[in-house]
Amino acid sequence: MNMRPVDRMLRAVARDILDRRDRLSGWKPHRKAFLASMRKDRESLARDAEDRLRRILYHAYETSPYYRDAWNAIGFRPSSSFTSKDLQQLPFLTKDIVREHKSTLVSERFRSDELDLSYTGGTTGTQTSFYLDHACAINRVGRQWGMLDLCGYRPGTRRALVWGVSDDLAQPGTRINLKRWFREYASSQEVLCCSVMNEEMLMDYHGRLLRFRPEVLYGYPYAITHLGRFIQEQGLEPIKVKTIVSTAERLTEVQRGFLQKVFGGEVFNFYCTREYGCIGFECRRHVGFHIDSESVFVEIIRDGRRADPGEPGEITITDLQNYGMPFIRSRTADFGSLSPQPCECGSPLPVLNGLDGRATDCIWRPDGSMVAGGTLADVFGDISSIRFSQFVQEKLNELDVFLVVTSGFSNETEKEAIRQVRELVGPEMAVNIRRVPEIARNPRSGKYQEVICKVNQPQRSTSTQRRV
Ligand SMILES: [Zn+2]
Repeated sequence: MNMRPVDRMLRAVARDILDRRDRLSGWKPHRKAFLASMRKDRESLARDAEDRLRRILYHAYETSPYYRDAWNAIGFRPSSSFTSKDLQQLPFLTKDIVREHKSTLVSERFRSDELDLSYTGGTTGTQTSFYLDHACAINRVGRQWGMLDLCGYRPGTRRALVWGVSDDLAQPGTRINLKRWFREYASSQEVLCCSVMNEEMLMDYHGRLLRFRPEVLYGYPYAITHLGRFIQEQGLEPIKVKTIVSTAERLTEVQRGFLQKVFGGEVFNFYCTREYGCIGFECRRHVGFHIDSESVFVEIIRDGRRADPGEPGEITITDLQNYGMPFIRSRTADFGSLSPQPCECGSPLPVLNGLDGRATDCIWRPDGSMVAGGTLADVFGDISSIRFSQFVQEKLNELDVFLVVTSGFSNETEKEAIRQVRELVGPEMAVNIRRVPEIARNPRSGKYQEVICKVNQPQRSTSTQRRV
């Protein structure tokens, strides 16, 4: 007898109990609302986004002292004639502002027990804490289940979570008690912590996956790739899944192809952050992120102004759901562009293209031009003896390239690697190859950083500056 449907049903029931205990019950209508938004037409979604934008602006002005003061200072007051075009006159919100003015950004209309404290998962600088109102938290859970539903992942589906943020996971070595067992059963998940992955752990993870038989692999693409390589090299029994959800790190096309081949599942890339939940998700066409336009209003900012469709720039978010602490025009330090065309899948949601690493994750050439981190991360795609690479720029005219290589990596390969990097960074930059046994993750976020830049953007030439 096939136990899978019974198992799935029992796990879904256990999940309801767990949600009630976590005060997260009530997300199901939000999943429904999200799925219903996928059936609306583009015009009514856009109208709806304008209404939501007006509502959050009124709310921010009336109940958040920070916005009231900042907007009064520039003579702005929300009105019924406000449209998203008018948003451009408002100042940006930065992480520094959130750190300095947190208490006055919080809406006066919320009691402290209606707010949850959360932290950003950024890879650079210090962590920022912020508040999320409880209704918004439940809403996001529901909407995310809606997005996952489109990938065939539903509550009760067994997933292996490959995750590295220690705050999100039970501490290793914690005794397995009934409570923790129930939590894992109800979440239908096996957690594989990936902040450190040595051979012994990889072997253990493989054994656990064989017993658990996950239908979904979910987490950091770098870590899942690492696990896949290990399984392949050791000739271990394959782990086959239906779906792979990649999140928290940039997914390269090389990784996508590899993951599909090794684990047999369809790879879906998600763009989620702690501050704004899931901003975007891939449909089955895999040509960019569909933006959840009922949750976030996305602007692309280039040289301080709003970019045209197709033009890349910094992704800037106005959150339409978190009334507890409104985020208006918040800079994400992520790069992307809005697609001028709708997706061929027929979805009415706008499409975000070319998410290309963090703003800090780029390299500055001595002449002031930028090399996007994403391009560097893919540069060694055809050198099979390079396992992992990391680019660190400490000085303007010098780039350290840390490589984890196999025995097939020769001095000739090294020369070829340098040549390929030079093509991107230009002849003025010294390229130092450093072979290392492994590449460290960021100890705080658990993320693997492909590109780390420690220098500031050099002054650009006058002709470039005039482009504003
Ligand atoms: Zn689509």
